[in-house]
Amino acid sequence: MTAAGLRVVEPVPVLRVQSLVKEYGEGDARVRALRGISLDVQRGDYVAIMGASGSGKSTLMNILGCLDVPTSGSYLIDGADVGLLNEHQLAILRNRRVGFVFQSFNLIPRMSALANVELPLVYGGVGQAERRERALAALEQVGLTDRVHHEPNQLSGGQQQRVAVARALANEPALLLADEPTGNLDTASTNDVLEIMDRLSASGRTIVIITHEDDVAAHAKRVIRLVDGQIVEDRRQAPVDGPPPRLRENDGAVVQ
Ligand code: ADP
Ligand code: MG
Repeated sequence: MTAAGLRVVEPVPVLRVQSLVKEYGEGDARVRALRGISLDVQRGDYVAIMGASGSGKSTLMNILGCLDVPTSGSYLIDGADVGLLNEHQLAILRNRRVGFVFQSFNLIPRMSALANVELPLVYGGVGQAERRERALAALEQVGLTDRVHHEPNQLSGGQQQRVAVARALANEPALLLADEPTGNLDTASTNDVLEIMDRLSASGRTIVIITHEDDVAAHAKRVIRLVDGQIVEDRRQAPVDGPPPRLRENDGAVVQ
């Protein structure tokens, strides 16, 4: 309550993670991949999760994306406690609330870019005409309007990853999760994909990107560093509701 007696309503974070622990295996073979991770991600934030190989980045991302379950701890997506959902509700959450981008693109071969982007909408039960319209709009957002009928093997790595970003966006997810999305790309394609992420962030998207490259993390508004399954650093580089650092000048003016 404020002095005037008004209640200050905190916005519901897109992600609320509390004391997340993940262990693999048992006995002597037991690996503690996450050792008590807690963090909130507000709508519009752009977070880079960094850490050496084996520090738990992919484990965290798989749990946040509802592809795996934690050993203990809780997490909420858009206010919904994921641990309380049944399989059916989880599938819906995964499809509607989270968009994934993987290092290896994971496009379906011998299907056009357009059909790949439409796929999550097929699973989401969106009708054909609307599906087409939304997929074309998503492909336009990543600058691939002239490649919609190409199949993955007719596209460069950078173009394939842009199709994957369009697919992740097709359902208008609350959260875009990307695990090393530029790990397989050359410098020019890396810059293309990062520029798209910057623009998505500037338009209000919530993004969590996993990377071990400082150059990639420099684009994010906030950098979280993991060591041995624990957060050792949580540093803000730009305000949640401002543009990402690469779209700023020294005086804060936006460079377009
Ligand atoms: P990162 O993505 O940061 O490289 P991971 O999340 O893949 O790290 O792995 C964290 C730790 O958990 C590592 O020690 C890894 O060997 C272990 N690990 C990951 N997945 C499994 C699994 N399915 N079974 C057993 N151990 C695993
Ligand atoms: Mg990994």
